[in-house]
Amino acid sequence: MWLFRFSFYCHIFSMGCPLASRANRKGQTSRGQNNQRNGKGRRRRRNTGNNVEPSQRTPGNSGTAELLGLHSSTATRRPSQDASAVEAAFGLAIADASFAAGSEHGHGVPAIGADTTLTSTAVQTELANSPDALAALPGLTGSAGFGAMTTGQQGALLTQYQEAPNAATAQYLQGLAAYHAAEDKDLALGDYEDALNPDSGTFSVDGTSYTIANGGLVDAEGQNVGNIHTDGTYQMTGDASRTSIYDDIRSRINMIEGEGDNATTLLNLHDADRHGKLTGENMNDTFAGMATDTLRGLRRENIDMAVTDDFRSSAEQDALYAKGRTAPGNRVTGAKGGQSWHNYGVAADIAMMNDNGRIHWNTSGDDGDRWDRYGEVAESNGLIWGGNWNSPDMPHVEYHPGKTVSQASSLQSTLANEGLEASWDQMGIGESP
Ligand SMILES: [Zn+2]
Repeated sequence: MWLFRFSFYCHIFSMGCPLASRANRKGQTSRGQNNQRNGKGRRRRRNTGNNVEPSQRTPGNSGTAELLGLHSSTATRRPSQDASAVEAAFGLAIADASFAAGSEHGHGVPAIGADTTLTSTAVQTELANSPDALAALPGLTGSAGFGAMTTGQQGALLTQYQEAPNAATAQYLQGLAAYHAAEDKDLALGDYEDALNPDSGTFSVDGTSYTIANGGLVDAEGQNVGNIHTDGTYQMTGDASRTSIYDDIRSRINMIEGEGDNATTLLNLHDADRHGKLTGENMNDTFAGMATDTLRGLRRENIDMAVTDDFRSSAEQDALYAKGRTAPGNRVTGAKGGQSWHNYGVAADIAMMNDNGRIHWNTSGDDGDRWDRYGEVAESNGLIWGGNWNSPDMPHVEYHPGKTVSQASSLQSTLANEGLEASWDQMGIGESP
């Protein structure tokens, strides 16, 4: 029991969490206080020079903040942005974009949703910590087609933008706006078609890679086997309907519009779980589902992240704890076996990737905003984010519903004596009926 009391004071220990330097910029908020929401819409100024060398980070380094029990009594499940509602909305967007045959141009006119009063300022506020989403927005709102729309139509387009706020969506909606404007002003339909399909790039899904050529998906034999669209959907030959490219977190997409000097990368997403960590047998389904939804939401914003750490056995945790104590190296954790939520399969560490798909730990500038956005999206999916702790653990997310410190204590013996499944049952997130 003393171990858990001890954990209350873990913030006085600095275990060299590589991302702890952001604590100063984030302010010293108390546990459980949702400073993300308070800071929403405010682009915080950041110091530069906070880059962290990858070599400074030891795998599994989560500082002391993740100590079991520390956050269990204060963690509250925040009102969740309903993930299924987002899914449904996105599905609706796909349906809206589907083409009906027989229009005068050979295309149906994609519907623009019901009028709303959403403004670009509201979208900017909502996406304050999503640099890619913010960067792409002016391309849409500054376009002639968008300007020609009624306020209600603009709001409807912005609503659609929020469902996957990235450069590809902006390109698509910009073309959609131009097309609608063209009905009255006789603008070239080419503007619209150009926006609909990416010119080049690559797409990998289910272990197969395709080359993108003017919206077509070309396999290794040079055969055109499907189509891909800037609205975030693809359809293989024979498929009855389109599939979202964002939903499969293990897919890889590089979508390019334009050619030569005019080529622009619209979307660049790598396999977010290349080692299948979230689907490992020791990971809890409820937690893994929340983490997957978080990654899906971030991918829609072109925030490229990957799982680096997942389940850790108590023995592995003990070995980690020994570092800097009875074993060589620097101390990397204050949690012994059974004291980290990683030992229960209800925690993961997720990190940023660079353009080449390699993990990096930069936290300055736009990367800092992306870390904040990661925290926002994780919390909106019901997860607890380590970035809000007194000793911030930026990559770390966990979920353990309603556990008080004393309950967490008995959880430790449950894990040791009865195993993972029993510990999940005790938390109310068991997988066996
Ligand atoms: Zn962690």
